[in-house]
Amino acid sequence: MGCTRSTELFTRLDGCFSPLDPPRFLCDEMLQGLGQWLRVAGYDTRLPVPGARDREVLRDARKENRWLLTCDRGLVLHAGAGNHVVLLETEGLEENAREITWRFDLDWLHAPFSRCKRCNARLLTREDWMSPVPIFHCPSCRQDFWQGSHVVHMRQRLHEMNVYRRSNNRNLPPGLSYS
Ligand SMILES: [Zn+2]
Repeated sequence: MGCTRSTELFTRLDGCFSPLDPPRFLCDEMLQGLGQWLRVAGYDTRLPVPGARDREVLRDARKENRWLLTCDRGLVLHAGAGNHVVLLETEGLEENAREITWRFDLDWLHAPFSRCKRCNARLLTREDWMSPVPIFHCPSCRQDFWQGSHVVHMRQRLHEMNVYRRSNNRNLPPGLSYS
């Protein structure tokens, strides 16, 4: 089958189609929060157009060389599913994030705040006389992101995920134990 089966649960993935490229993602509609965090970490991450059919989502992921992250078993079993479809076995944002950290050996400090959390475009920095630090600006959706306490908090969360990455890299994946 063209997917990660339950018998191969938590198989580690190479993480990229080319060893020279960082992984690119497409998150299904149920994983929008995870998708936004991947963007915050700097990964090129698309979300499907609302109401998109399964076969369209699968086609887009394949065409754009993206890992399709999903918690929908139906999508995995779809005739058009390929090896790029990754079924997440955990529930909730925190556990999902840990699962992909383990499976992709994902570096959450890959390129923090280089992409727009809203639309995935590359952010620019611009000076503003009102702000003592540069402002992140999205040239696509025109959103400004100020480097205030919210950004500090998000950066802290990225650091925490990388602490998890380092501490669990040689151990068992999330949700499993030796007992
Ligand atoms: Zn944007």
